[in-house]
Order: sequence, then C-alpha cells, then structure tokens
Amino acid sequence: MNLAARVLIPLAIAPTPRCLGAVVHTLGGLTMGTRWQVRLSGPARLALPTLQAGLQSALDGLVAQMSPWEPDSHISRFNSAPAGSWHALPEDFATVMQAALQVARASGGAFDPSAGELVNLWGFGPPGPVAQPPARGALADALARSGWQRLQADAPAGPARPGGAWLHQPGGCTLDLSAIAKGHAVDVLSRHLSRLGFDDHLVEVGGELRGAGVKPDGQPWWVDLQVPPGLTPRPGLTRVALHGLSVATSGDYLRWRDDGRGGRVSHTIDPRTGQPATNGLTSVSVLHRDGLWADAWSTALMVLGPEAGLALAEREGLAALLVERRGSGWLEHASSGLKALAE
Ligand code: AMP
Ligand code: MG
Repeated sequence: MNLAARVLIPLAIAPTPRCLGAVVHTLGGLTMGTRWQVRLSGPARLALPTLQAGLQSALDGLVAQMSPWEPDSHISRFNSAPAGSWHALPEDFATVMQAALQVARASGGAFDPSAGELVNLWGFGPPGPVAQPPARGALADALARSGWQRLQADAPAGPARPGGAWLHQPGGCTLDLSAIAKGHAVDVLSRHLSRLGFDDHLVEVGGELRGAGVKPDGQPWWVDLQVPPGLTPRPGLTRVALHGLSVATSGDYLRWRDDGRGGRVSHTIDPRTGQPATNGLTSVSVLHRDGLWADAWSTALMVLGPEAGLALAEREGLAALLVERRGSGWLEHASSGLKALAE
C-alpha cells in the first residue's frame, strides 16, 4: 500500500452526496495531442454518448482557437499574419491570452506566450523535432521577434475594431499557449458539466486536473501529485482532495529529447535567454481554483527555478510544490500556501 506523506484538503470541503444511487461514469478521448478523461457522479442511466460528444465538441472548439498545430486555427492565422494587423479574439482565446500576459508580467517574462519561435527552434513546436541546437543567429533573431511586451491587447474600440478583445501582431511574433491551454480546457469541461447539472466530477486533460463536488460515497476526488521518475529515494506521495480545486504539473520528464551528450533538452524554454531551462527543478505542481492559473503558474515557476520560483509563489500566495534535483538526491520546496492546505 502507498502511504501518502502529505494530505492536502481545502478548508471549504463539504462532502455531501447529492444524488442517491449515483454511480461514477467515465468518459474520455483525444485532444491537444494528448488524452482527456472525465469521471462524473450521476444516475446509473445517462445519455453518455451525447455527453461525450458535447465534451469533445467543447475541446474541439478550443483547438480551433488555440492550437498552433492546426493551420487554420485563430492562433496560426495570428502567427502568420502581417506586421501591424489587428485580430479579433474569440472568448476563450481572449481569456487565456489575458491570463498569459498577467503571468508573463508577474514572472518577469519567465512565462511568455510569445515564445513560440523559440519553442519551434528547440524542436518542440509544430515544425517537429530538430537534430541540433539552434544556430546562434537563428536564436538571436527569434529572441528579437518574441517578447510579451511586444503584444498589444488593449486596443481602444473604434469603428474598425468594435467591442471585444483584439490582439496586435507586431510582426513575426509566434504565440504558443501550450503552457496554459490544457489548464483552461479542464475549466471549460468542468463548467460544461456543472451547467448540465453534473456538479460532482473529476476532469483531466493531459495531466492537468480539476475536481468539483464529491464521489457517490461522499468522499472528495482524491488524486496524488505526479512524482518525477528516477529520484532516489523516491519522494513520498502528496494526496490532494480536489474539491473545487485544480492542479497542474510541469516537469522536465514530461517532454524532452536527448542532447546527444547523455543529457536532456527540456521542453521548458527560458524566454529571457532563449535556452532550455536548466535550473535544477525537475517538477512543479501548483494547486489553484482554476486550471488556467495552475497551468500558467506551474510553467512560470519551472522556468524561474527553486529560489526565484518559490519567491514568486510566496508573493502570489500560490500553493506550489517544487522538486529540485540535488546531486543523486532531491529536495522539495513547499510554498506557505501548500503547507497551509496540509495543516
Ligand atoms: P507546461 O507543460 O504547461 O509547462 O507547458 C510546456 C509547453 O509550453 C512547452 O512544450 C512549450 O510549448 C511551451 N513553453 C515552453 N517554455 C515556455 C515558457 N517559458 N512560457 C510559455 N510557454 C512555454
Ligand atoms: Mg503549464
């Protein structure tokens, strides 16, 4: 049996089953290059195919807005648009972009939604893997064309740009929202379920999770935070009651490639230098009410490293767990917000 070293429970937990005779249904599919899964508590007889189709269609809508892998998506059209053009953003894209810019500012650019060209150069974007590190000139070029400060999102409304959110393409700026879109997707699925009256559910998109309500037995949806592989001794489990709570994890083990010298190139890029982040962190988990924020902050802390990352977590009041490789061992850093959930 796996004993949890730490158990995290939100203060506002109220475990009352809402539906007598409820059972857990499981639905799932593919999205954003990964899997999604929903577990929901509801009556034994449910129109599951309809429910499944509704959830998949909500996810397809997000992909059509924010996937750079889809040539016709809003984000792809923005990325290839000429300098000086303005783009009306659909609602989800606008919500995600606004949060991305806020986290970019708060993290001093460690998180940057305009790092797409850098991500591509290191072989983690739509153009596919690369055999060599990018040439210095190409990196300098990409750095010059990226930078969240180049993005103008607060255009004054006018006859040419009626109300709603607009984004300005300053020229050659490539957006990548992969560090935040999956988190937003769990929020969207969770809200979709609540609107249909399914208040008790656990949603997962590619490892990012959001739980609401309770299971049929009145227990909250318990999940264990991901433990980075290959650490000795193996860190203890942190078990969380996802009751009106989301969790996102960024890790150097989740997507990487060989550097040809026995090391690894991580998919987490430091947009301030253009280089993959190498600060000793192997994983960061952030708990937040919204998946959107959990996802963005976990990537930001992963780029910042143990010290600056923990400092930002404290400044922002985040519940974060940072795991650092130390020689052959490891060290965990828990923010005050996380410790408070364990008390
Ligand atoms: P996550 O797993 O949420 O940390 O997101 C990692 C993904 O976000 C990468 O595969 C890149 O597509 C993108 N990315 C990498 N570095 C950054 C960064 N510093 N800021 C924003 N997005 C990034
Ligand atoms: Mg993230």
